[in-house]
Amino acid sequence: MKTMSREPKVESRKPGHALAGAGSRPSTLDPRQNSLLRQWTGPLTEDLTLHPGDFGLGKVPARLRPDATTRSVCGFCSTGCSLDVHLQSGVAVNLTPTADYPVNLGMACPKGWEALACLAAPDRGTTPLLRDAKTGKLEPVDWDEAMQVFTLKFKAIMDQHGPESVAFLSTGQICTEEMAFLGALWKFGMGALHGDSNTRQCMATSHVAYKQSFGFDAPPYTYADFEESDCLVFIGSNLCIAHPIMWQRVMRNKKNPDIIVIDPRRTETAMNATQHLALAPKSDLTLLYGIANLLIQKNWINREFIEKHTTGFEEFAAFVRQFTPDKVAAETGLTVGQLFRFAETIATRKAVSFWWTMGVNQGHESTRTAQAVINLALMTGNIGRPGTGANSVTGQCNAMGSRIFANASGLLGGRDFLNAEHRAEVARLLHIAPETIPAKNSLAYDQILQGVADGKVKGLWVIATNTAHSWIDSARATGALAKLDFLVVQDMFTTTETARQAHLFLPAAGWGEKEGTFINSERRFGHIKKVSRAPGHALSDFNIFRLIANYWGCAEMFSQWSSPQAAFQILKRLSAGRPCDITGIADYRHLDAEGGIQWPFSKLGLGTSDGSQTQTPDAIPHPPSERRLFADGKFFTPDGRAKFLFDQPRAVAEPTNEEFPFVLLTGRGTSAQWHTNTRTGKSAVLRTLYPAKAYAEIHPSDAAQLGLEPNSEIAIVSRRGRVTCTAVLTPTVQPGQIFVPMHYGVTNQLTRGEFDPHSRQPSYKHCAVRLEQIS
Ligand code: SF4
Repeated sequence: MKTMSREPKVESRKPGHALAGAGSRPSTLDPRQNSLLRQWTGPLTEDLTLHPGDFGLGKVPARLRPDATTRSVCGFCSTGCSLDVHLQSGVAVNLTPTADYPVNLGMACPKGWEALACLAAPDRGTTPLLRDAKTGKLEPVDWDEAMQVFTLKFKAIMDQHGPESVAFLSTGQICTEEMAFLGALWKFGMGALHGDSNTRQCMATSHVAYKQSFGFDAPPYTYADFEESDCLVFIGSNLCIAHPIMWQRVMRNKKNPDIIVIDPRRTETAMNATQHLALAPKSDLTLLYGIANLLIQKNWINREFIEKHTTGFEEFAAFVRQFTPDKVAAETGLTVGQLFRFAETIATRKAVSFWWTMGVNQGHESTRTAQAVINLALMTGNIGRPGTGANSVTGQCNAMGSRIFANASGLLGGRDFLNAEHRAEVARLLHIAPETIPAKNSLAYDQILQGVADGKVKGLWVIATNTAHSWIDSARATGALAKLDFLVVQDMFTTTETARQAHLFLPAAGWGEKEGTFINSERRFGHIKKVSRAPGHALSDFNIFRLIANYWGCAEMFSQWSSPQAAFQILKRLSAGRPCDITGIADYRHLDAEGGIQWPFSKLGLGTSDGSQTQTPDAIPHPPSERRLFADGKFFTPDGRAKFLFDQPRAVAEPTNEEFPFVLLTGRGTSAQWHTNTRTGKSAVLRTLYPAKAYAEIHPSDAAQLGLEPNSEIAIVSRRGRVTCTAVLTPTVQPGQIFVPMHYGVTNQLTRGEFDPHSRQPSYKHCAVRLEQIS
């Protein structure tokens, strides 16, 4: 993957622009053929004229010369790159990556460069829409009518069927302040119980794995660890494509590190590996237990660290003894030699870091697999030191915010709804009655949709996510949504598969049109800013929640939630004394000045395991810009020790057979696509970087057997659906496997709704399919 350079961007020409610049020659006489003397296509001369851009920008196109710049964190992935937004009269006209931000160091991937493109899309929601009972069409209404309908409908359902008959499904894409407001409004103000986020689809496993092993959902690393490792192990992570700027940090590593990639596919990351372990799909838990056994048998472990800082090792060592090299080789498809080489590399390097993402998280036994990664780091003492760690790479830009502050599956500040002390603490901090906080957990995403399908959940509010496209076994999800008495969709765009099913649509401002914070993969709070006006009557999610509080009649409870800045101060209060303490962050300006700040950062100087922050009561403190957790070996469990957790591997629910002989793998296609393509699909530039039509990667030997030609149209059939796509013949997949990117609507028509029992995260990475030739 090529990362774009900091050259100024030249915007593509608008339709009709060429004619205006070219004079008025009648089109019938105009062959519009390029010649040496005249080019009819490409940028106009005026577009190519460059001027000094000031603000350290070098030269920029004359018409895009900014009169000011400001910084804002990118709103796509969890890397959290900072972008310098170029402003003319206070409105964004262009952007470039920030050169001195500690995350991206002047780099951005294509999505970041094109972050402004989707704001002007023609399908932006500009006014609330209400489905007309007679015509069945969505018709424009004003906010007053929309809010009246919202409150009347939800109240009527709750009155008739109880508070568990309604639910929300939210996102890891809105600001932390907005997530917290939504969760507090829904559960404390409106008296409902069930709500979950699309972070269930990406980070629920990491959340549960860390919480159980470390006592808190605490990714321990900082991005400097990419540069300081002697050996980086990537498990189910195609960092090159999914997190290209993190991969650039790997490329800056001057230690000539070993790069070990565990992935069934020969991904772009695997192509850059020193060892690629192309294991059988979903045999990763067996492999990791087998490596643990080898390390123990060879005494390649750190006894001192294990004894001082962990519990459960002896039981774990006895458990993994059954995972002999021969057994593991047979079940994973790897050789015994590969297993020994992998174990020996871990044992002989001083700083080993383990990185996992969706290949682990989206599995049927994902929590135990993530913990098997954590176990390797613990038993070898590879944690708390530079270049080490059991490091979960987050997906969405604010999945970390959702994990700590969404008030959905956990109580605000990483607390538990089932813990009476936690409820009392939150009630005190928010000045609300303790009994307004439910003493019961919400249903998870899949259980909410099951409730909808069963007719128990009758009202649903979907915020900034596209369930009908992204949820596993999407036809089933779409069918369930159609049964709802009342579906509200709050989104930037009116055309998502989910918005098209809504009874009420609420138009929301997007990234760049509102203010707040995101928390990135390495726990860094970053500031996002309003650099553009939302179209028409669209409002920020924060202001929509304020309106709802007013119409619902609970505005008094949220009188302090007057702005995102004010809500941030409430989050600080909620974090005090918790592992995620951020009381040391003064305000948004402090975040801007420091280049973002990682949690924890307590005003008391507590909570930073390396104790390295400056404590200056009279001045705003300056934390070191890169901090990792557990340098002191103290974890967040009651006894301060990390736990070894494990279980027997389980077979996949849908193995291949004669009728469905292929394993379907899904994942990210290119670094120009983001999830359901709702935003990235709006950029003409990004659309040139990936195929418009869904495609399937198929091994050439399978294609030969089936008589498939390159680029021919094929059908993929699973027990849930039949879809068509283009055949791409490539040895990046193994025989018997096919890979389809997740961004196309067809993909989840095939996937099977299976869930990890601990995190309830869907298993997107394995189901059985067959291929059919379309003549
Ligand atoms: Fe950085 Fe991710 Fe945005 Fe790309 S999408 S610019 S990697 S934050």
